Amino acid sequence: MGMMGKVAVGLLVIGGLFLLMLGAIFMIAGAMDTIIMGAVLALIGFALFGIAYMIIRKEAQTPTIVRQSYNVTMGGSGEFRERKLSCKSCGAALDGRSVTLISGGLSAVCPYCGQTSVFEEEPKW
Ligand SMILES: [Zn+2]
Repeated sequence: MGMMGKVAVGLLVIGGLFLLMLGAIFMIAGAMDTIIMGAVLALIGFALFGIAYMIIRKEAQTPTIVRQSYNVTMGGSGEFRERKLSCKSCGAALDGRSVTLISGGLSAVCPYCGQTSVFEEEPKW
């Protein structure tokens, strides 16, 4: 989380707490007008908590997405290493740089003859 995000969340939480306490005091000590005033203050306090929560959630989501796509890349290349792939046209060995992950398998362009070979995903039992 960036410095600005932390400061914003901190201010929102402190402000929200302050408004909730003030609202509670108004509602406990007050007559009819101040009870409504206290309820409004408490609602604004809850809204500040909600904004702080949304900022935290938004900041927390970004690294999760990066990690997931990283895992997919690693899984694909790990699978490739287990099965040696060779060009279906000239038989040359295909390395990871020429292989791309497609839906249902791998696609590889041969660096020697330029032929595109498609390797279907074998079912895992
Ligand atoms: Zn080839």
